[in-house]
Amino acid sequence: MTRRFGLLVAVPLTAVHVNFLPTLRRSSSVARPVFGRKASAKSSGAPAAPTTGSRRSLSGRYKEKLKPLEKETAGRFVDTHCHLDKVIPRLSRQSHEDARRAKAKGLAPPRQMNASYKEWRDSLEGSENDLEACVNIGCQKADLEQAASFLKYDGIYGAFGIHPLHAHDWDDEVEKKLLAMMTMQKVVAWGECGLDYFDKKTRGQVKDPKLRGLQRKVFAKQMDLAVSLKKPLVVHTRFAEEDTLELMEKHLPTEHPVHVHCFTSSNTLAQALLERFSSLRLGFTGVVTFKNAPEVQEVVRNTPLERILLETDSPYMAPEPFRGRIAHPGHVSYVADKIASLKGVSRAEVLATCRKSTRLIYGI
Ligand SMILES: [Zn+2]
Repeated sequence: MTRRFGLLVAVPLTAVHVNFLPTLRRSSSVARPVFGRKASAKSSGAPAAPTTGSRRSLSGRYKEKLKPLEKETAGRFVDTHCHLDKVIPRLSRQSHEDARRAKAKGLAPPRQMNASYKEWRDSLEGSENDLEACVNIGCQKADLEQAASFLKYDGIYGAFGIHPLHAHDWDDEVEKKLLAMMTMQKVVAWGECGLDYFDKKTRGQVKDPKLRGLQRKVFAKQMDLAVSLKKPLVVHTRFAEEDTLELMEKHLPTEHPVHVHCFTSSNTLAQALLERFSSLRLGFTGVVTFKNAPEVQEVVRNTPLERILLETDSPYMAPEPFRGRIAHPGHVSYVADKIASLKGVSRAEVLATCRKSTRLIYGI
């Protein structure tokens, strides 16, 4: 993808900049890469980001509410982004398919699973069984109820919104439904929502201005609602770097808690987001374990461990050595191992630091 950058805006040093300067490899004059179009929007007088007042009250609320982590969380992990309503039935189908293949080869069939959350949870073994909790996502109109049905289980929290690929779902009814869901116990965030300009046919960017316009409108609306409710925001961005940064700068206070999930965009976008939004975290999935994802691994190397969240985005993108299989929240274990090796720290340090970030963003 072609990106247009320009080093245009000098940003004053803040505590956040100072903390992360070594990682950002910046010299003493801190200049932030700015996407071309956003720069011109700024000079043409684009609306300013929300006011300092809401920033203060939000960060204050977060600091007050957060209890320290209990000892029991040591060595355990949270999958901060998964789609259980898609994971469980697919795992069940996979186990039956595995059994059928084994039988055809005259081998003893492996354990078969019914489409039951409890059965799957009880089947986790070894490091996968260190799973402590999940943030389960519902992000299209038709699946919201189904996704919310998992909240009855211990350790399952929810986040709900409308995914950019389902932007056409957005109407008054879905807005009302989401607002009601935000009042439910265990609903910890708004999303995922965002922009997805990936064109499957051309494997490039979607050019259709109508489709882009709809996604932008629905993303902006959901950011405004999340900010007004002071709900953490889960962002999906794919092939839409300039517009993502532009809209987030326009609609989010700089201290709003944000999880940019399954981060696969450029290091430039990663660093721009980390600098601009002090409570933002980047989520990494099984993609970090892929041999053909050196750019994502580079982003991990350039991102302070304190700004990383562990996730699977299951059932998609199972990590090595399970590529091509159905991903599930226990696979966070392998994501954590890979991040530890990329950053040259222990697995225990990755788990403890990311667990803290999970509490900071989601309050769990
Ligand atoms: Zn997702």
